[in-house]
Amino acid sequence: MSLTEIIKQVKNYNPAADIAFLRKAYRYAEWAHFGQKRNSGEDFFIHPVEVAKILADLQLDSTTLAGGLLHDVVEDTGVTLEDIEEEFGQEVALLVDGVTKLSKLEFKSKEERQAENLRKMFLAMAQDIRVVLIKLADRLHNLRTLDYQSEAKQREKAEETLDIFAPLAHRLGIYRIKWELEDISFRYRHPEEYYKLKELVSATRRKREEFIQQVINNLGDRLKEMGIKSEIQGRPKNFYSIYKKMKDQKKDFTEIFDVFAVRILVDTVKDCYGALGITHTMWKPIPGRFKDYIAMPKTNMYQSLHTTVIGPEGEPFEIQIRTFDMHSTAEYGIAAHWRYKEGASSANRGVNEADQKLAWLRQLLEWQKDLRDAKEFIEGLKIDIFSNAVFVFTPRGDVVELPAGSVPIDFAYRIHTDIGHRCIGAKVNGRIVPLDYKLKNGNIIEIITNKNNGPSRDWINTVKTSQAKARIRQWFKREEKEENIIKGKEMIEREIRKQGLELSVLKHEEKLSEVGQRYSLSTIDDIFAAVGSGQITALNILQRLKEELDINDKKDITAEELLSKQVKGDWGKPTQGIRVKGIDNLLIRLSHCCNPVPGDEIVGYITRGRGVSVHRADCKNLQELQSNEPDRMVEVVWDKDFTSSFQVKLEVTGIDRAGLLNDVLNVLVDMKISTNWVTARTRKDRMATIELALYLKSLEQLEYVMNKIKRVKDVYGVRRISGGQTVAH
Ligand code: MN
Repeated sequence: MSLTEIIKQVKNYNPAADIAFLRKAYRYAEWAHFGQKRNSGEDFFIHPVEVAKILADLQLDSTTLAGGLLHDVVEDTGVTLEDIEEEFGQEVALLVDGVTKLSKLEFKSKEERQAENLRKMFLAMAQDIRVVLIKLADRLHNLRTLDYQSEAKQREKAEETLDIFAPLAHRLGIYRIKWELEDISFRYRHPEEYYKLKELVSATRRKREEFIQQVINNLGDRLKEMGIKSEIQGRPKNFYSIYKKMKDQKKDFTEIFDVFAVRILVDTVKDCYGALGITHTMWKPIPGRFKDYIAMPKTNMYQSLHTTVIGPEGEPFEIQIRTFDMHSTAEYGIAAHWRYKEGASSANRGVNEADQKLAWLRQLLEWQKDLRDAKEFIEGLKIDIFSNAVFVFTPRGDVVELPAGSVPIDFAYRIHTDIGHRCIGAKVNGRIVPLDYKLKNGNIIEIITNKNNGPSRDWINTVKTSQAKARIRQWFKREEKEENIIKGKEMIEREIRKQGLELSVLKHEEKLSEVGQRYSLSTIDDIFAAVGSGQITALNILQRLKEELDINDKKDITAEELLSKQVKGDWGKPTQGIRVKGIDNLLIRLSHCCNPVPGDEIVGYITRGRGVSVHRADCKNLQELQSNEPDRMVEVVWDKDFTSSFQVKLEVTGIDRAGLLNDVLNVLVDMKISTNWVTARTRKDRMATIELALYLKSLEQLEYVMNKIKRVKDVYGVRRISGGQTVAH
């Protein structure tokens, strides 16, 4: 009986359908489910037959119908997928496999934010959109027979349907199924509200139906007069959409005026606008309520004109105007694009289907520029884009979207960076898998961690997500840095010891930071790391640090302090070749007035804020200071290990002759003494004056070079004129 019904219906929309194929699928399912009962006590087989009928309502191809008839045999009977493939071919087998997999999906997470991910995963897993259509039909029939389930089950299914299945039907544009799914779920989910609303609607129904009938008659007459062929329907809105409107807009039932709507179906787009004009001459339109979904279709391909007008008794009502084609799209949505093309070979059929699917996407793309809701567009498109994604569950039931080809390590890093770093293993659906296991849709992933573990370098080649790659690299960079910090610190400490300094110079953290800033290094660890990795030498850092300490550590010292220190103190550490009795770390300047050179007898004078200035003991300025401020004098000695050069200026006088300058300079060349500055001038009386700046190491060397120059022919005299600047050797 049922088989005849289905065949009749299919022949109606597809006269050339493969009836023998359908008949075979029907008999096979009947045989496979033989003896199984539903909760209602009916034969189980009724369920797949009803699913097939719903699919026939959507006017789908024989393959989809066969898939509907056979959708539960693999899960619930001894029949295998291989059996199905053998009997009905690969296409039907793929559909049955898809539905079986989706049935095993558990929607654990109740969080609203997860619903969209679940819908995405659902579409991704389906691969073939016809799997979703079968699943929607399956869910619809299960809802229609939900009375036989426990109350808890009813509630759960109703919730799941409102979260996942009804929005999916909406996205695919199949309003016919969407409304029924919503209204049945609404009844089980919020029974009180449902029955209250139903009562309200039926209380006003009679009056409204009379009113609608009157409108339909008047409108029909006018359209006919104007030569527009039309079909007019009075359409009650579904309960759930009224309920949602009341809830979302916080409105009372009496404030919802489009509980009923009038729909005008015509042949052409031109007639749509013609009919719109006529309705607006008959009733006054409410401003702001007109919507042109013909010029700007919705992403799910819905096209129609919507207007709300004020009726004969001052009551507003909605009118929808569209062509028969548009109406079909509105009812069947994406299903309209999977209708069977009879007579094509199966290869051609594949191409046609691909074409249709592409046409649908292309249309979406063309419409994109007009779309106000870009997000909705993207969602619509994702059905196809999903092939690049894999959706997996956390143990809690949250869905995680990852690129196809991702492995458990990707998942671990997506959950948390530390979980990624500490990952040592993974379980998929409760079983241990290798870390390079390719994740599959619907897998439940559990990551095993060890807090002492770190990532492995070859993970970079294993993972798929750039996020995981970046985090792994970061980890190694950080680890390397830690090694470099230790290494760099050791190198600097070695340099400090080499230069005979105390390791405590590194305790001047402020100064060290200032050194770092010169290299744009923000922390002391950064300095060590830079040295450790060889970007900067330890010597460089230490020199800079010494400069910082010398220049900025200008201790001004009082006479009392000095005295007490000198009594107790030993010779301080050398600074620029000078040791000061009892004190370290003072700025030392060799005074310019007397230019002391190592070997000169020297005395220190404690300046105000400029450290110690060192004078030759026979300096005239010093003698003055000694008599005025005797308590600022300090004992100083030359550091005998100091190897820097001192600049000394000499003035050489003699009789001007050709080659005099050359002879003087030759003395220096012979002694390997460098000079960086020479001037020579001759007076009218033929006396020549030569000034030289020399780099010397000691007073002995100075005396020696002066004696040598004095012995040059025609030289009368040699004297020091200035000097005292130390020069790094
Ligand atoms: Mn089923």
